[in-house]
Amino acid sequence: MSTITAAFPRGTVLGYPRIGRRRELKRAVESRWAGRTDAVDLEVAAGTLRRDTVRRLVELGLDPEDGSVPGSFSYYDQVLDVVALLGAVPARFRDLLDADDGSLDLDGYFTVARGRGEDAPLEMTKWFDTNYHYLVPEISETTPVSFADHRVVREYAEAKEAGVTTRPVLVGPVTFLALSKAADDAGEGFHPLDRLDDVVAAYAELLRALGAVGVPWVQLDEPALVTDSLDVAPEVLDEAVTRAYRALASDLAPASEDDDLDTVPERPRILLAAPYGDLRAGATDRLALLAGTDVDAVAVDLVKGAAPAGPVPGLETKTLVAGVVDGHNVWRADLDAKLETLESLRALGPVAVGTSTSLLHVPHDADDEAWEGPAAERAGRTPRLRRWLAFADQKVGEVTTLARGLAEGRDDVAGELDEARDALADRAAAAGVVVPAVRERLAELADGDFVRGAHDERVNAQRARLALPPLPTTTIGSFPQTPEIRTARAAWAKGELDDAAYTAAMRAEVERVVRLQEELGLDVLVHGEPERNDMVQYFAELLDGFATTALGWVQSYGSRCVRPPILWGDVQRPEPMTIAWSGYAASLTDKPVKGMLTGPVTILAWSFVRDDQPLAATANQVALALRDEVADLEAAGVAVVQVDEPALRELLPLRRDDQEEYLRWSVASFRLATAGAAPATQVHTHLCYSEFGEVVGAIDGLDADVTSLEAARSRMEIVPELADAGYARGIGPGVYDIHSPRVPSADEVTELLRLAVKSIDPSLVWVNPDCGLKTRRYAEVEPALAHLVAAAREVRATL
Ligand code: GLN
Ligand code: ZN
Repeated sequence: MSTITAAFPRGTVLGYPRIGRRRELKRAVESRWAGRTDAVDLEVAAGTLRRDTVRRLVELGLDPEDGSVPGSFSYYDQVLDVVALLGAVPARFRDLLDADDGSLDLDGYFTVARGRGEDAPLEMTKWFDTNYHYLVPEISETTPVSFADHRVVREYAEAKEAGVTTRPVLVGPVTFLALSKAADDAGEGFHPLDRLDDVVAAYAELLRALGAVGVPWVQLDEPALVTDSLDVAPEVLDEAVTRAYRALASDLAPASEDDDLDTVPERPRILLAAPYGDLRAGATDRLALLAGTDVDAVAVDLVKGAAPAGPVPGLETKTLVAGVVDGHNVWRADLDAKLETLESLRALGPVAVGTSTSLLHVPHDADDEAWEGPAAERAGRTPRLRRWLAFADQKVGEVTTLARGLAEGRDDVAGELDEARDALADRAAAAGVVVPAVRERLAELADGDFVRGAHDERVNAQRARLALPPLPTTTIGSFPQTPEIRTARAAWAKGELDDAAYTAAMRAEVERVVRLQEELGLDVLVHGEPERNDMVQYFAELLDGFATTALGWVQSYGSRCVRPPILWGDVQRPEPMTIAWSGYAASLTDKPVKGMLTGPVTILAWSFVRDDQPLAATANQVALALRDEVADLEAAGVAVVQVDEPALRELLPLRRDDQEEYLRWSVASFRLATAGAAPATQVHTHLCYSEFGEVVGAIDGLDADVTSLEAARSRMEIVPELADAGYARGIGPGVYDIHSPRVPSADEVTELLRLAVKSIDPSLVWVNPDCGLKTRRYAEVEPALAHLVAAAREVRATL
């Protein structure tokens, strides 16, 4: 058995990107799904990736022996990993469990994630305030729960063989259950946390197995502790934490320095991590709660959360892993300030350096990207910008520098501190970071700029101008991105297709989509968005103040990755962005065409946003650029403009106390973007990816004339909620679930529509799909939209 250090390593990261620098895991997993490789090929590829990762982390300065290196790999999702660890699959997937030990094999694991035939996959939802999505476990009284899967132990051994002692990282038992939902077969009043003791018993067995092979440290992530907006009462959560960690930390004997060689520890030392926010959520101070447990170290997020103001009883005997390096954004850290924080924390007890969250949310390595040359220039990437950034690998460097500075003194890292200070000063002074014209325009804004004319007047003007039937039909914007569109864009990006040829190809596509909508009999048409690779990146490429990356991939869910643009400077619109497409579409038809813009909050949510000014100010800069675009769309004869805000709910703060302020500025930025529109211009918005119960007030506050919402899966649940809240604007609850390849029948759509017109004034109701159609195929979209139009006609006739 190896010797075990009592204090936590002096520096670590809470987790590392797992998709691979060149998205190796994505490729390997998707090849397996396509049946091109077998499960062994996938395990071999993943094993190579894991070994490369731990070696890289050591190369970057983490200690190979003391558990500094996180073992944070996942084939798909860290919450699904716990489902597999416990064998806790819903009834419809029980046949996938091994008859002997209740484990899931790799193919079974993916089946739970992706579904099979009629068996729906686990639902997917956003992970805290990030754009990462996890799978929601379904738990009931009878869900199997045991220590079923030994992958964590195997991966530890694999790294050990490669010469690196890792620290296994898992979602903790309380967060796992707090994020679960009651399975369909659960009894009335059941909450997944009712199974806490069973789950904790399985974790205890896992810890024993890890202790037996000499694992020095394990990390249990409990981000549920930083929020008070989960569906669990705060006291219940507090009690669960106390109970769980009494069983795991107090009742099992930890490894310790003075163990003689014959005593096998019952568990590794435990680092309990609380990323994504402040531990003072609601009434309780959960740092005090954690300090009172027998865990050995506590990791706190000091980017989103505040450092403890004074001594915390119990903390002096634990290591406080101070998450000073931002795991959720790409800016280079102010090392002087971070060191100061770290030094002051020493008064509370032993301190180690950490990241605020796993590095899962940032790309691998800024040095993988090209920062010079024509492609970089077009994308706004410059060597100067590069200097201001830290991706995952650079952040590991920051952690090790800070750890060295804290241990050996500032002189030891003087060079690194100087370099960071210079880079920061360079960023603050760079042209484009502050653009006086943008600042002046913001400073001159008056209350009136956020307010449109009276609602009644708008309704009348729009009715006269648009002459729409009752229950008007429309779509959310995008039509399928066909292989031809993708091929053309790829060729254009490589320079094989010139601008004129690319534009001609996209215009031909716009015309096709317009004609199709006319044939289908839709009332308000769209241009179909063929020219947009992504609804945020498209605008980021056209606005000043943004850079986009070629390789800056970040996992969004499973094998799906996104490349968030970097919003580094004041935002300005050098020229119109959508007129060439929407205006062209409008010129082709007598029907109204809806112009399509992405709203300020969504642009912020899906970018890496500058951290040197309040989000609200950045949002208003984006809003002003969009406001100018709305004016240009109106001038081009576009009568309807939609400003999408699918991420409005996503940025809602985790603590209730912070929510009101967020809703105030986010709603204001949307209004700033749209309030310049004439009364006769109909403003639409679109929200999706979430339940909207909590933001009903904000939906009304947006003051859009029409709001379309995802609603098909929840069977129009939101419509009565809006009606109860007195909502009196246009509402388009989605009647076609576009997340599934299934084509709904006209009868199904009719039924949903009837539900909607039963609970709210039918004159307010619009008929549309749940979301854009870009991920679907025409073979599904054409019949589905035909059914949607038929259903609208049928219900119209009954009004
Ligand atoms: N207009 C966008 C589209 O149709 C909206 C996408 C979204 O809500 N995520 O694709
Ligand atoms: Zn949507």
